[in-house]
Amino acid sequence: MQKRELYKLEGEKVVRERRYCPRCGPGVFLAEHEDRLSCGRCGYTEFKKKQTGKEEKKGGR
Ligand SMILES: [Zn+2]
Repeated sequence: MQKRELYKLEGEKVVRERRYCPRCGPGVFLAEHEDRLSCGRCGYTEFKKKQTGKEEKKGGR
C-alpha cells in the first residue's frame, strides 16, 4: 500500500493548493480559516495577508 498515492489523489481532487505545516512537514496540511491557516497537530498558525484595510467597514449611521 502506498500512502502517497492516496494523498495525491485526494489533494488534487478536493483541494487545489494546500499548504503543508512547516513544522510537521509534508503530509500534514494546514487547516484553512477565514484569515489564517493553522495546523491541528502542532498548533502552528499562519496569518493570511490582507491587501485591503484590516478593519471591517460597518455601514454605521
Ligand atoms: Zn504542524
